Amino acid sequence: MDFRKALRGFLHWVEDLVYPRGINCLVCGDRRRTDPATGVCPGCLKKLEAERVPAAACPRCLSFASRKGCAFCAAGGMKDVRRAFAPLYYHPASRSLVISLKFGGTDEALPLLGEWMADSLIERDFDCLLPVPLHPRRRRERGVNQAALLASEVSRRTGIPLREDLLARKKYTRPQTAVSFRKRKSNVLDAFAVPPGTDITGMKILLCDDVRTTGNTAQACAKALKKAGADDVCLLTACAVR
Ligand SMILES: [Zn+2]
Ligand SMILES: [Zn+2]
Repeated sequence: MDFRKALRGFLHWVEDLVYPRGINCLVCGDRRRTDPATGVCPGCLKKLEAERVPAAACPRCLSFASRKGCAFCAAGGMKDVRRAFAPLYYHPASRSLVISLKFGGTDEALPLLGEWMADSLIERDFDCLLPVPLHPRRRRERGVNQAALLASEVSRRTGIPLREDLLARKKYTRPQTAVSFRKRKSNVLDAFAVPPGTDITGMKILLCDDVRTTGNTAQACAKALKKAGADDVCLLTACAVR
């Protein structure tokens, strides 16, 4: 057995005895000073604040553009996504927060991420908020669609109507994280389609996902939406890879 893991387990047990009413920080597990409203301790909140996406980031891919411009967009990037919004860069602390949505952290992490995501939306003139759909099989495996949880929280806070029916995942794909970087584009290519009989002509759509990594998933969704007549597609995520 991993000694450090055992020791950490023991320390958490002691903390439970000393702070019976405390809650564990969703990021580091610390129980002593975690704010019950956010589920995060002051140290981790500081780490999260340090990874906020700055106003000067590229409006489309959110990479922190140098004077030379951003390589992601120059290489084609997400060409059907007009602009992207996200409060946080992807790093260990924001990753833990997003992952906690899968494991019962919804009471604390969802309001926190929802508030920050809503704050990052400097444009709000959208016809709907559309979570990136999971294939029904993946939905069964995972039990929860974090994108849908986040989208409904942001919808509640901004008043942008939630529409989960405008896009379907027609192909079962391997998780993007399980595929090599080189193959991620082909993995999701043509994975999405607007269901027959759904009219999205002229709509301004805000796509929503938990994390944007390569941008290939968002691009595949945006391409399908544009092809079906959407006028404009933007992307909102909780975190974005820098
Ligand atoms: Zn913490
Ligand atoms: Zn860019």
